[in-house]
Amino acid sequence: MQNTIKAGLVWLRRDLRWQDNPALQFALACCAQVHCVFLFDTDILQPLPANDRRVAFIHASVEALDATLREQACMSRAGLIVLHGTARTEIPRLARLLQVQCVFAAHDYEPLARQRDEQVHVALAAQGVRLETVKDHVIWERRELLTQGGKPYGVFTPYLRAWLARTQAAPQTPRSPNQMLQLLAPRPDPYDTPVPSLTQLGFGAARPMSGIMTGSSGAQRMFDDFWERMDDYEQRRNYPAVKGPSYLGVHLRFGTISIRQLVAIALRRMLEGSTGATVWLSELVWRDFYFQILANFPHVAGGAFKPEYDRLQWEQGARANDHFIAWCEGRTGYPLVDAAMAQLNQTGYMHNRLRMVAGSFLVKHLGIDWRWGERYFAEKLNDFDLSANNGGWQWVSSCGCDAQPYFRIFNPVTQSQKFDAQGKFILRYLPQLRGLNAKHLHAPWQAKPVDLSAAGVVLGHDYPFPIVDHAQARAKTLLRYAVVNKSVQASAGVLQ
Ligand SMILES: Cc1cc2nc3c(=O)[nH]c(=O)nc-3n(C[C@H](O)[C@H](O)[C@H](O)COP(=O)(O)OP(=O)(O)OC[C@H]3O[C@@H](n4cnc5c(N)ncnc54)[C@H](O)[C@@H]3O)c2cc1C
Repeated sequence: MQNTIKAGLVWLRRDLRWQDNPALQFALACCAQVHCVFLFDTDILQPLPANDRRVAFIHASVEALDATLREQACMSRAGLIVLHGTARTEIPRLARLLQVQCVFAAHDYEPLARQRDEQVHVALAAQGVRLETVKDHVIWERRELLTQGGKPYGVFTPYLRAWLARTQAAPQTPRSPNQMLQLLAPRPDPYDTPVPSLTQLGFGAARPMSGIMTGSSGAQRMFDDFWERMDDYEQRRNYPAVKGPSYLGVHLRFGTISIRQLVAIALRRMLEGSTGATVWLSELVWRDFYFQILANFPHVAGGAFKPEYDRLQWEQGARANDHFIAWCEGRTGYPLVDAAMAQLNQTGYMHNRLRMVAGSFLVKHLGIDWRWGERYFAEKLNDFDLSANNGGWQWVSSCGCDAQPYFRIFNPVTQSQKFDAQGKFILRYLPQLRGLNAKHLHAPWQAKPVDLSAAGVVLGHDYPFPIVDHAQARAKTLLRYAVVNKSVQASAGVLQ
């Protein structure tokens, strides 16, 4: 295969790194000359707000990758060709102009991306150019891990077991293409230009992603920082005021770090006996799990994994709309939920424990369709990934694979007392409650008027009254889900 293709084009999408990049490695291994392109895809960018943090992150990471490629290739005219337009026209046009025989890219599993790749594939084929795609974003993809019955997994624990066994039997070693980067071709005119600015792309200054460094070097520094804390992950990960998790989600989303690199290190540490690494590795496996769910059960992008749950009757009308807006804006009157939403709105990040609490609140306290929450998170999360976000929302609403049972309804007050006992996280985002003592911070409406006035808090003015009562909401949700549950039992012959 070595150098059998005269010229190839690597189309980078959500794999913005040069190290351990299978599409790039494949191209370098079989082409005499390799070009690299990144496309700011107008089909994706068009609906986004001008200050979208993710576009700014991608932009900075593309600039860094361009500089690294030129440096590694020891040639200033090498580097990334950066385009702005739609994939179905720009990629075939570039392939024709560069006279490449093959375009290389990483597999994408999202329905719209699959459609896009199919359109590009057809357009390239019409020009006699091949589109070769390879696995990159996950360790095991699609139907690579199946149950003994030959079916895709729908339950996490046996999947985890099978994943660990297979990964230990066939370790995934990250590879670096340093030597071969000399095969990178000089960028011909008119492509030998700097990366267009955010303004040229139609975007303005974005609010920063707090604490997130960009590009592969940023990802590596964040991982080095997490490595020091990895052994404590299990103890620290549930407390939103504590620096417990890795914050690498956005880097995994855009491929500025390799999943194989992370898995290799976590697995090694696990085998050395670290429970922190064991739990963190299992989170990376959840990521693979949801990717394979989306690939094998594409109906989840739009409907419940268990279709009978599509029959649930969600709240509708003006009250539901008002409740939804209050939830989005962090005005539910439940401090942990409101602080979580403020964190999301202000930074684009939300701690995992809070994604569960805030998500559950929307669905099981407000009775609102989980897809509304899924859409809001998709707009706001820096690390938004269709598969993980969808999996998370199906989990909190109990209608997905491996979901929590419908009758398990997080109490936002006890969650708050347990995971933010001193209210440190709450006060970071709701400073107006700072005069309340720790006991009342979790449920200000339970404080006596004298305590509220001593704290300078006027409910309904400085902070809202709760928009729903926990006990009533809980009872309503049990009724709502009982309908589905009865029909499930009936169809299984339990209630005959
Ligand atoms: C309602 C809801 C929505 C979510 N939406 C997303 C999303 O859009 N994108 C996303 O990456 N994760 C999502 N998650 C999963 C999880 O909350 C985030 O991955 C995690 O909080 C990211 O922070 P971190 O990088 O510090 O994670 P760490 O705790 O350091 O975990 C490391 C990595 O493992 C993966 N991971 C961790 N937990 C999960 C999980 N439950 N499912 C899948 N992958 C996981 C992520 O890639 C994460 O970056 C969602 C969870 C819920 C409950």
